[in-house]
Amino acid sequence: MDFGLVSEINPSIPHSFLKPFLTFDIDWASDAVLEYCIDILEQANVRVTWFATHQTPLLDRIRENPYFELGIHPNFNPLLEGNFCYGNHYAKVLEYYLNIVPEAKVMRSHSLGVSSRILMEAKVMGITHDCNLCIPIVAGGGGIN
Ligand SMILES: [Zn+2]
Repeated sequence: MDFGLVSEINPSIPHSFLKPFLTFDIDWASDAVLEYCIDILEQANVRVTWFATHQTPLLDRIRENPYFELGIHPNFNPLLEGNFCYGNHYAKVLEYYLNIVPEAKVMRSHSLGVSSRILMEAKVMGITHDCNLCIPIVAGGGGIN
């Protein structure tokens, strides 16, 4: 099956988004579990977008596979609850995750937490694709004009 990478989506080119995408939130999985998952996907020879939550040597293995891309999986939930463990501002939270994956072009937030301010800041920081909503499928169904 021909899976796309999220960063390759171009809204003006329908075939860039009218295909399936395999995306995985790493969600602090142990290295043993993450490695097991990487092994399966490498054996399947499929393209995958990964959303990273933490440092692990396995991120380099993901980076080295040309079928894989690495994005960030920022968690704004603590900030929303007054906990500054990832920073006391949404820009600091983005910086925290971009320190893990400085080359990230794609992001998906925990709990799909996003706002126009977060998206504007993410764009300034180099994020080109947000994966919290999938508008093309909704639009394809005639739900949004
Ligand atoms: Zn997640």
